[in-house]
Amino acid sequence: MNMEERVKRLREKISVFCEKAHRNPDDIIVVAVTKTVRPERIEEAYRLGFNIFGENKVQEAREKIPQLSHLKNVKWHLIGHLQRNKVKYAVKLFDMIQSVDSFALADEIEKRAIGKIDILIEVNTSKEPQKHGIPPSEAFNLVEHILNLDNLNLKGFMTVGPYPVEEKKTRESFALLREIRDKAETLFGLKFPVLSMGMTEDFKYAILEGSTMIRIGRAIFGERY
Ligand SMILES: *Cc1c(COP(=O)(O)O)cnc(C)c1O
Repeated sequence: MNMEERVKRLREKISVFCEKAHRNPDDIIVVAVTKTVRPERIEEAYRLGFNIFGENKVQEAREKIPQLSHLKNVKWHLIGHLQRNKVKYAVKLFDMIQSVDSFALADEIEKRAIGKIDILIEVNTSKEPQKHGIPPSEAFNLVEHILNLDNLNLKGFMTVGPYPVEEKKTRESFALLREIRDKAETLFGLKFPVLSMGMTEDFKYAILEGSTMIRIGRAIFGERY
């Protein structure tokens, strides 16, 4: 299957699950995840209508993003774990950092940012010990901390669902992120509109649980090698 066919299938599947959830497909932002994908193929995805791209490693992004600077109206999101010593590069390369999961990382972004930067708080909703993300019980303290920083624009929350995908556990994990968002909105009297959850294997459950942003790699670009 070529990229155009894969994208057509993806759009169809998004429509089907939006219909089940009584949601509008226009309310689901697709971040095309370009880790390991060469610049030529990222351009192909751009021509097929994608303009938000997600990378998971700062080093790889430093090599690829400058090669695609001629593309208009493109946004880059960092979706992978960010080490504090790479923040100085990340704030220059990315329009959004989706993986803020500690006080120390938030403080480092505050210190290095060149103006305001959009961020999401990554929550470990599946409680798998090897996963990144702040534990659910600490998420509200991190929200409060970030709201006191000048340069971090908190847009919402992000999570990576459990592996392997299993309907009940996966949906519980996504529902938990939605509940954390709802509670944070009540506690702080603010709106946090972005719920970044769902990847190739589990975006259908994420849509059913209220995701507004799905991060899709393989369903667009094919398997990674
Ligand atoms: C790789 C990755 C994705 C996309 O995964 P696919 O299964 O290829 O859709 C989404 N989110 C994060 C954090 C990733 O690292």
